[in-house]
Order: sequence, then C-alpha cells, then structure tokens
Amino acid sequence: MGFILGVSKKFHPHEFGGLLRGKGDLIEEVLMIPATTYGEDFVTTRLDMVPIDRSIIGSVHSHPAPDFRPSGADIAFFGRTGSVHLIVRSPYRGVADVAAYDGKGNRINLTVI
Ligand SMILES: [Zn+2]
Repeated sequence: MGFILGVSKKFHPHEFGGLLRGKGDLIEEVLMIPATTYGEDFVTTRLDMVPIDRSIIGSVHSHPAPDFRPSGADIAFFGRTGSVHLIVRSPYRGVADVAAYDGKGNRINLTVI
C-alpha cells in the first residue's frame, strides 16, 4: 500500500494508473503499464499492450482530487480488467485515502495485511 500511495503522490497532479496482480482477491503486485497515457483528467491503459495474464486481478489509479468515487469511465474500465479496483485520492496519506471496488463499481472491503 505504501508503494501505491507513494507513486500516486509522485504523479500528482497527474493520475497514476496500473494493473494489480495477485491470487483471488489478494493483491500481490502493482504493474505499471509502459504505454499508459497519463493525463490530468484521465488515464488510458492500452489493454492490447498488456500480456494475457491470468494473475491480473484488477486495476489501480489515483484521483488528484480528494474524492475516490469512480467515474462512469472508471466503472466501464473496471468491468474489463478484473474484480478488484483501487482508487487512491489526494492527499494520499494512508489507507483512508484508498477505496476498493468490484468490477461493477460497488465499494468492497479493503484489508491491508
Ligand atoms: Zn477515476
């Protein structure tokens, strides 16, 4: 979690985006996608650049605003990339600034182990 918060902070005021690798619902690794375009209002991930990999369980991106509610585009993206999605909001201070969602954009529990 420290890595995600640190990278989000580093990208601010731009968004950071990546994919989550793990087993089941357990996040083990964050993959930053080289072809990802970072913009002020959006993150575009070239899914064709991502190797077919069953260990990809979801995605992560940051919101430079203090709001981690998913946008319509976020939810559409969630549906294509797995079942665990994290949104990190500014000011990226800790787990209270991270929200987890399922593939439909419903808030799910996030436990840091
Ligand atoms: Zn978003």
